[in-house]
Amino acid sequence: MNKLLSVSGISKCFKDTQNVDLYLWKDVSFDLSEGESVSICGESGSGKSTLLFALGGMEKIQSGSIEFCGEELGYTKKHFVPGIEHIYQHYQLIEELDVLENIVLPCQIKGQKVDSKLLDFIIESLKLKPFLHRSPTQLSGGERQRVAIARALVTKPKLLLADEPTGSLDEVSGENVMDLFFYVCKSLGTSFILVTHNVSFAQRTDKLFYLKQGSLVDAKS
Ligand code: ADP
Ligand code: MG
Repeated sequence: MNKLLSVSGISKCFKDTQNVDLYLWKDVSFDLSEGESVSICGESGSGKSTLLFALGGMEKIQSGSIEFCGEELGYTKKHFVPGIEHIYQHYQLIEELDVLENIVLPCQIKGQKVDSKLLDFIIESLKLKPFLHRSPTQLSGGERQRVAIARALVTKPKLLLADEPTGSLDEVSGENVMDLFFYVCKSLGTSFILVTHNVSFAQRTDKLFYLKQGSLVDAKS
């Protein structure tokens, strides 16, 4: 299997008001091959979301390197990295656009043709049809979360960074959404990093890590 992502010894540190370094996590390393999946679990505040932002090039790191498709990723700020898509913990939908416009926006920005068969399948599976022409402000948290998932999947990314994608869903909806998520990622050959508090979802991925006291620990070792 070809290597997709190579994370070597990355660290994230903030400075407090007295300019003292506070490390959120240190020396984080792992590899991901094409089509492979990883879960990251850990307490709230352990730095999971910050790690996903770093892996998408949206958060500066203080040391180490991240290679995506054999190239150094670097810090891209808010720019999209071709091939990487993010399901944000707080959805980050655009309120001025309706649901359908939100879902197809990343494809438009990337100049990518929308796969209408995949789009219809995802809309149907995530039960989003009744909401397509509503503003995200008129949706519940769980409905917004499903829109964010649809938006990420229709781009057919090489790497999907999924930050608690079922965090706002009830148990049954969460399971249905994750079944679809796993199915679509497998069919498209998408690799993904899943941040979740749900142990049974985490156990369905190829690798499982915990972010604990600033270190990324392999749950199987
Ligand atoms: P998780 O997703 O595991 O709940 P986060 O990555 O959201 O954790 O945040 C981890 C910690 O990092 C939090 O305690 C947060 O306050 C801190 N943090 C995040 N961004 C900054 C920042 N820019 N400056 C200082 N601390 C930050
Ligand atoms: Mg988080």
